[in-house]
Amino acid sequence: MSEDKEVKQWKEKLFYRPKNGYDQIDAEQTGEIFAYAEGYKRFLDAARTEREAVKEAIRMAEDAGFVPYTFGMELQPGAKVYVNNRGKALMLAVLGEQTLDHGCVIAGAHVDSPRLDLKQTPMYEDSELAYFKTHYYGGIKKYQWLTIPLALHGVVALKDGSKVTVRVGEEESDPVFYITDLLPHLSQEQVTKTIAEGFPAENLNLLVGGIPVKDDDKDAVKRGVLAILNAKYGITEEDFISAELEAVPAVKAKDVGFDRAFVASYGHDDRVCTYPEITATLQTETDQTVLCILADKEEIGSEGNTGMQCVLINDLLNEIAKSYGVNPSVLREHSKCISADVTAGYDPAYASAFEEMNAGFVNSGVTMNKFTGARGKSGSNDASAEYIGYLRGVFAKENIVWQTGELGRVDLGGGGTVAKFIANMNIDTVDMGVPVLSMHAPYELISKADLYTAHKAFSAFVK
Ligand code: MN
Ligand code: MN
Repeated sequence: MSEDKEVKQWKEKLFYRPKNGYDQIDAEQTGEIFAYAEGYKRFLDAARTEREAVKEAIRMAEDAGFVPYTFGMELQPGAKVYVNNRGKALMLAVLGEQTLDHGCVIAGAHVDSPRLDLKQTPMYEDSELAYFKTHYYGGIKKYQWLTIPLALHGVVALKDGSKVTVRVGEEESDPVFYITDLLPHLSQEQVTKTIAEGFPAENLNLLVGGIPVKDDDKDAVKRGVLAILNAKYGITEEDFISAELEAVPAVKAKDVGFDRAFVASYGHDDRVCTYPEITATLQTETDQTVLCILADKEEIGSEGNTGMQCVLINDLLNEIAKSYGVNPSVLREHSKCISADVTAGYDPAYASAFEEMNAGFVNSGVTMNKFTGARGKSGSNDASAEYIGYLRGVFAKENIVWQTGELGRVDLGGGGTVAKFIANMNIDTVDMGVPVLSMHAPYELISKADLYTAHKAFSAFVK
């Protein structure tokens, strides 16, 4: 053996180097990766909001034989059930043949994404233009939401208990909505401000109409728009008080690049983990018990009765434990969870925001974040070495392409996920998800290879 070859072999044995996913797969797998991405793109276009994601997930689950569960129902091994939490969050459960003394496997992702919610009194007219006022939801860079087509999705709940569903801006023939920006010619003051000062939230107002009703001098445009809404949905201005209407980018998911390596879309965070989690759960043939959680309100701290902090998951675990005759504390103690959420992909255009040795690289596979949080890991779930060691074994057995990473350079910022709320229940939990470029932008970017490795990794986990 030549000396060079020997050195190379030693390095291969001893060094850890994340590799490009495409270097580790064959042509057949490339076909699978691309085919899988087509299903994901359809999911993205159907599921623009948390409510629509839950609806779409239920449709997929029912096709796979899942039935709705209500508390008190018996849970037999072999059953496949789902719990629909107020149409905004969902849990799928596959009840295994195995006893639950050694716990179950849990995958948790979230289905809400940053967006612009309508205020409860949203409507006004100024200079004969009708607008809806918005209140942003989640962490956004406000200027990114100006001058792009926006669609309106959501529900209006009426006093009589009925509910109107709204979805405008997605069909080719639909109108869209629009937030204006100042022309560069007159922006000398705007461009010298900081980004935080230059784009106040109270300027994020959707243009929704411009034709005045004849013979009416005040608020004639607003009246015209309200008349259209009344004819179409039977609602009046007061009904917005009990509405949840969300403005989201009216742009479909698209392949990016001549080689179509990437998918750009609204809402990759966190549908790019939600979708693989659902497909892994629906396809599993395990004899273990699997729980797939699709949570709401992650982007604002997992609060409320549809967020991950709600006791509902614990209630379901208690019911499962009861059905199997197992102490629920023992079930939780031995359960394992992957908190499936996106991470920041290394972006060479903003290299200084990352620390290259510990960044998640796009195309190098689904990325594990041992911890999240900010500064000194504040607010983080910091998974144990033992649990990560266990998962390395699971992934090695199935030849999963994956990498380790952390969300950007230390001291620059940070973030959290649902991981800590699941871990708080005495469940081993680690964050793992697809690296995203331009995270939280109206149109985010992911790699098809990373998406597919997420499906493979979650499938190995629930096997
Ligand atoms: Mn997320
Ligand atoms: Mn997010």
